[in-house]
Amino acid sequence: MAGVAGPSEEGDLMEDIRTRAVHVVNQPLPQGSWPLSVPLVQSSAFAFASASELAEAMAGPDGQYVYSRRGNPTVRALERTLAGLEGGASAIAFASGMGAISGVLLALLRPGDQVIAQRCLYGGTYAALTDLVGRYGVEVAYISADEVDEFEALAGPRTRLLVLETIANPTGQVPDLPGLLAAARRRNVISAVDNSLASPVLCRPIEFGADIVLHSTTKYLAGHSDVLGGAAIFADDALRQEIWPRTVELGASADPFAAWLTLRGIPTLPLRMREHCANAGVLASRLAAHPAVMAVHWPWSTTHPSYATARKVLSGGGGLLSFELAGGREAGRMFVEGVRVARLALSLGGVETLVTHPASTSHRELEEGALAAAGIEAGLVRMSVGIEDPEDLWRDVEQALSPLVLG
Ligand SMILES: *Cc1c(COP(=O)(O)O)cnc(C)c1O
Repeated sequence: MAGVAGPSEEGDLMEDIRTRAVHVVNQPLPQGSWPLSVPLVQSSAFAFASASELAEAMAGPDGQYVYSRRGNPTVRALERTLAGLEGGASAIAFASGMGAISGVLLALLRPGDQVIAQRCLYGGTYAALTDLVGRYGVEVAYISADEVDEFEALAGPRTRLLVLETIANPTGQVPDLPGLLAAARRRNVISAVDNSLASPVLCRPIEFGADIVLHSTTKYLAGHSDVLGGAAIFADDALRQEIWPRTVELGASADPFAAWLTLRGIPTLPLRMREHCANAGVLASRLAAHPAVMAVHWPWSTTHPSYATARKVLSGGGGLLSFELAGGREAGRMFVEGVRVARLALSLGGVETLVTHPASTSHRELEEGALAAAGIEAGLVRMSVGIEDPEDLWRDVEQALSPLVLG
């Protein structure tokens, strides 16, 4: 037997049906046969012909596949695809966006290290950083991320990592990526940019000097609200080699089927992003002119505080917008319960339009004062604009807004 063709070829040894049933036929493809779609290699482990080959394969992240927590062909196809889209050298795929973020933080940081992070940060990232402070003696300093000077004033010999997001949620803030990433590089501070909301279609942070790009592939990359996933993409493969053993220990590895579903979504990413941006633009301008709405936050609006930066850093405004209803908390609740095409659900980045009202859901414990301090108005509604017809979306938004126009 050449190589490991699989025990199914050993038919003469299999007399009993119990043995034959276990060893279903598992044949490699004939040389030269190339499936058009990426094969789903839904296997936890891989068989070897010799113990020495198996031992050799355990040396690092590349080489032969051994065990799917350490590497898997379908997951590797996703990693290579993501690295290509972001202009990185290599990538590690994870079970979720938080798996990627926690994995990178835990792999890089040691007690006494300082992290400088953008103040308006994804809630899960903020919670993970807070946990590092309490449990592991890591120091975290927050900056607005609009000015490079803030970073320069805080950065010191213990600064290990700068954490930013291309587009923050729900404010739509776009940090000064070119300035901050260049400053981090000058000081040998590793930079990590969560690019989930922009996707590599609207921004490739590595082009501005990022060392690591983070993704919740759950959002725009997979795009169909049917799978969780995350990824870290590295500008330089040395960083992946350093981080990989630790992420294998932490175990938040991507499952092959999840990777396969994500790969299934990616070919339409540029088409979907175009529609998300166009639809968000239609809704943002009409919402701004509606009497029930006090303010709209979308970085591609000329009135947004990040507009000038967004024009430098992004190639479109993205699909996430938020707006403040004049009627406050009760109006927010009524709006998210009044929409009929859009759905009330957490998450974002899928083909369908979703709405949330932070003051009555994720932030419902906060009084008005504490809400305002967190940058969230009581009447703030977040909308992940999908790829439906924009006129249908506007009709839905209008009928949900009409009872909210104050007399
Ligand atoms: C959703 C999200 C995450 C977390 O991703 P999961 O896949 O839910 O773990 C991280 N960052 C941003 C910006 C997100 O929107």
